[in-house]
Amino acid sequence: MIFLDAAATTPVRREVLEAMWPYLSGEFGNPSSHHTLGEAAAAALAEARSGVAKVFNCRAGEVTFTSGGTESDNLAVKGIALARQAADPALNRVVISAVEHPAVEESARYLERVHGFAVDIVPVDGEGLVTVDALRSVLKPETALVSIMYANNEIGTVQPIAELAAVAHAVGVPFHTDAVQAAGWCPLDVKALGIDALSISAHKLGAPKGSGALFTKGRLRLEPLIHGGGQERGKRSGTENMAGAVALSTAAVLAAAEQPAQAQRVVQLRDRFIDRVLDTVPDALLTGHRSQRLPSVASFCFPGTSGESVLLELERLGVVCSSGSACAAGSDAPSPVLLALGIAPETAQTAVRFSFTSTISEADLEAAAAAVETAVGRVKRLAAPQVG
Ligand code: PLP
Repeated sequence: MIFLDAAATTPVRREVLEAMWPYLSGEFGNPSSHHTLGEAAAAALAEARSGVAKVFNCRAGEVTFTSGGTESDNLAVKGIALARQAADPALNRVVISAVEHPAVEESARYLERVHGFAVDIVPVDGEGLVTVDALRSVLKPETALVSIMYANNEIGTVQPIAELAAVAHAVGVPFHTDAVQAAGWCPLDVKALGIDALSISAHKLGAPKGSGALFTKGRLRLEPLIHGGGQERGKRSGTENMAGAVALSTAAVLAAAEQPAQAQRVVQLRDRFIDRVLDTVPDALLTGHRSQRLPSVASFCFPGTSGESVLLELERLGVVCSSGSACAAGSDAPSPVLLALGIAPETAQTAVRFSFTSTISEADLEAAAAAVETAVGRVKRLAAPQVG
């Protein structure tokens, strides 16, 4: 099997499994306990936190461990907006882009539904980019927060985060980015990016599902969403997922060290794969930006097919990929991300996303490109009206 669905999830790395194992066995202490087992756990948690902080180039106290990307996004969007509104009731709007993951979009909709916020959507251009001017035009004096994803999970387009954050800061608005897909492929230095909050998820990085982290800058106030014993400096109560935090930290540190070389290698393979598919599949349409995209994502529409039938054919040929985001899989509705790019609904329904792990080989991508040509050809022949 050739696995080309790494944007959905990744296998756990051996180094990560080995690093987390003690916290699932002998070192089972609760980091809040005041005995040697508890203190050992607290020390391991502190080390995990400083690992993530090094990757973010921030202070350890600015890292909150969560249950994953979804929770990190919820905590950032709701937590920052609600804390800002509590300090100044006039702040009752949030800005998000038209291509956010549901973890951000639905958090904004919750603020609208339950707390009376208005949600302002920044449009994207035909390649999925948010422009500085587009963002500037939706900012208002009442804007409490801007949340724009670093890289899109369906089309791979990478936003100019530092420039967008500067636009928000020019009018005193904090900036959050969902870096769940960018992590491992793009630099996560929060100082260089000039941002106030950033979410990541462990399972996109070679660590297990159900663990994540949120960076929030210095004194930026955050209304907690989970109340209890005050763990994580009161930002996220609940006994910490020790093994999950150690795993996330180990994976993030490894990925950050490997990132520049891996990104350079995989970009070349990705571009060859894209060229090959565009050359061999008539009408294939690349979605997202040609170069400002994740090294790991090649996404297409194949007009005249249905995305689901192409996926089935590809799986028969040994290639596993997806029609868009794993969250939307199984839904018949065309992807809102593709619609936001201006793609017609019937074309959007023919979308297929190929996403690569950092260890993807040239041979696998060559074989996958050949399989795409065969699969799309078969689906088109079956869909063509029979003559005679
Ligand atoms: N944000 C983006 C861009 C994602 O791609 C995902 C998962 O696919 C999430 C958030 C949610 O992360 P998690 O699966 O850890 O909840």
